[in-house]
Amino acid sequence: MGYSETLMRQPLPQSLDPRRQAELGRELAGVLSLARMPRLAAVVVDAANTGDDYAAFELSFRRDASGRALVQGRVTGTLQLRCQRCNGVLELPVSSSSTLAVVRGLDEAAELPDAYEPLLSVEAEIDPAALVEDELLLAVPAVPRHPAGACEPPVQTAPAADRVDARPPHDNPFAVLEVLKRHH
Ligand SMILES: [Zn+2]
Repeated sequence: MGYSETLMRQPLPQSLDPRRQAELGRELAGVLSLARMPRLAAVVVDAANTGDDYAAFELSFRRDASGRALVQGRVTGTLQLRCQRCNGVLELPVSSSSTLAVVRGLDEAAELPDAYEPLLSVEAEIDPAALVEDELLLAVPAVPRHPAGACEPPVQTAPAADRVDARPPHDNPFAVLEVLKRHH
C-alpha cells in the first residue's frame, strides 16, 4: 500500500490543533461527503440530491520561515447550484487552493503577508472539515447563473393559442370551416 493510499483511508479528525500539526508537518487527504457540510447545504440545490456528492481535499500543515503555522488547502469537487435566471441546475466545478495562516486575533491577521488568508483560531483546535467547506463556499458566486444563452428553456409556459397557430391548417377544424364558408 502506497503512502497516499494510507492517507486516503484515514478518517478526518473532528478537531485538531493546527499549530501542533504544523510542527509535525502533517498532511491529510481524502474525500468528504457534501451532505456533511451544513453551510454548503444551504446553497446547493438539494441535500437529497447531493447526498452522493463528494469533494476531494488535501490539507498540508507546515511552518513558514517566520515560524507561522500554515495550512495549505486544496479542494476539488462539483457543486450543484440553482441558476438564478432559469431556476435550472447549474454544475459548478470547483478546484481551489489557498494558504491559510493560523492567527489568534484580528491584529495578527492584519499583519499577514498578502499571500496568506487568515485562519482565526482563538481556541487551540479547529474542525478540518470546516476548512474544506469554507474553501468550497468561497467558490460559490453571489448570484449563480448559467453562462449567457445556456439557460434551460422555460417549462410549458407557451400560451395554448400559439400551439394552435403552429399546427398545419388541415389539423385545425376551424380552418376547414373557413374553407367551407368560402365555397358557399
Ligand atoms: Zn440558467
